[in-house]
Amino acid sequence: MHYPRNWEELIAWFAEDDECRDYLDWLRWSQGFVCPHCGSRKGWRRVDGRWDCGKCRRIVTQTAGTIFDNRT
Ligand SMILES: [Zn+2]
Repeated sequence: MHYPRNWEELIAWFAEDDECRDYLDWLRWSQGFVCPHCGSRKGWRRVDGRWDCGKCRRIVTQTAGTIFDNRT
């Protein structure tokens, strides 16, 4: 079981924000970064936990399009 059932359970799993972000990264991009805008697999992580796409230069949030959208 690698997926929390709801937001409360996710919070219970991760007390630290950084750990939560790492988990969301893994959840979303376990196969590596993929830009939702252009599909590029080239990107790098910003200091604030979001990602820069190496191709279209957009900033990507790891919660966009997931069940956690609008909850952070
Ligand atoms: Zn892109």
